[in-house]
Formats: sequence, C-alpha cells, structure tokens
Amino acid sequence: MSGVAAGRVAAIIPAAGLGVRFGAEQPKAFFELAGLSLLTRSALVLAAQVEVIIVAVPAEFVAIAAQELDSVDAEVHVVVGGATRQDSVAAAMLVVPQDVEFVLVHDAARPLVPANVISDVIKELAGGSQAVIPVLPVVDTIKRVDNNGDVVETVDRNSLRRVQTPQGFTKALLTEAFADPTHVATDEAGLVESLGVTIRTVAGSERAFKITTPDDVALALSLLGEA
Ligand code: C5P
Repeated sequence: MSGVAAGRVAAIIPAAGLGVRFGAEQPKAFFELAGLSLLTRSALVLAAQVEVIIVAVPAEFVAIAAQELDSVDAEVHVVVGGATRQDSVAAAMLVVPQDVEFVLVHDAARPLVPANVISDVIKELAGGSQAVIPVLPVVDTIKRVDNNGDVVETVDRNSLRRVQTPQGFTKALLTEAFADPTHVATDEAGLVESLGVTIRTVAGSERAFKITTPDDVALALSLLGEA
C-alpha cells in the first residue's frame, strides 16, 4: 500500500523479453536469483507499495507466472506480452483497473531496486507530477564515435542521465502516450516526451541496475550476500 496517493497505484512489469543477450534457456525474467525469479523479486518489492501488479509474459509462461505470483500481496493480473517491450506494456495497460490513479512501469530485470526509489517516484506523483523517472549521473566521459568506431567528439556528460525504472505516470497521461501505435520509444518516458509534459527526475540507485549479462548475475548475488 502506498498510503500517499488518493487513488490506487498499479505497477506494470514487462517480463516478456526472451533475454537473448542474457543467454539463459528460459526468458530472463524467469531466471532464478538465489531461489526466486527476477520477476517474483521485482513483484515482491513493488507489492509493498502498490495495490495492483500487472505482468506481461510470453504466452507459454502465463500459468507459470500466475503460480509464482500467487503469494504476492497485491491484486495480480498476468497478460501475454508482445514483440517489443512497448507492445508488452501496451497489453498490460489494457487491464489496468478503472480506479487506478498512477501507473508505475518497472523492468523485471531490475529486482534489487531499493524501496526508497519506488516511494520517491510515488511521492512525486502524489505531489502533482504527471511523469517521474529515477536517474543517475553519468560518471564516465562519453564520446560519440563514427561507423568505424573512431572518435568524433566528446559529449558534455553534465546534462546526461542514466535512466532506470520504475517510471511513474498518471494513468491518464500513460494512456494518452500509448494511444498512437506508430509512436515508438525505448521507454515510457520517451513516449511521453512528445506530449509536452514535464518529466520530473528523482535519484535512482546503483542497486537498481538492469540484469543484462551473466556478470550482472554475479553482482546481484554478491549484493544479496549469496556469492
Ligand atoms: O531486453 P531488456 O532487458 O531491455 O528488456 C527490458 C524489460 O522489458 C525486461 O523486463 C523484458 O522482459 C521486457 N520485455 C518485454 N517484452 C518484450 C521485450 C522485453 O516485456 N518483447
């Protein structure tokens, strides 16, 4: 329960990626980290602060996901995801209950997101923001390169941010952002940018990193104290 929002808060977890870069046999979201899947871990951390959880998974994993999430203390919906992350979130948006005021979208692949990042996003929405994303500064020097990989220029990193999840929106804004199926972006904030709404940022966390490669699994296990 969020406690700070007037209406209910829902969290969409896109978990329908096949995890090609990750190289596991099953979809990445179903990979188990010290006994619990990335999806279940993400759902458990969100369920402490939201009332509704909607997961989008590959068609053949719907029953498995429903079983895994049976013990999660929230209203859980499982839908079939799409060919892209955006398609998966769009499918989940179709079942967001009517009385939901705010929708968070969180990658299943970020299971170690700290509770305070989630609560900061919800607080910012409850305070009147329509769109909120957690970000981190860029600490490395960033260069633009050409097709040969040769350096073209150094990019000013001071105005750059690394974007994490959960990204939070009013349901009305996110619904509007998904209304045009020809509009494509790699995250939900990217869809919202063209709507002329201010997207607020809150501090992200290094612990909210996205598990992408086998090296990331080793890092996650060490953070869990299992390595
Ligand atoms: O592949 P990547 O790690 O960028 O995916 C981010 C999130 O989007 C993952 O949780 C993945 O399962 C999800 N996704 C999805 N449907 C797709 C592709 C990715 O739900 N078709």
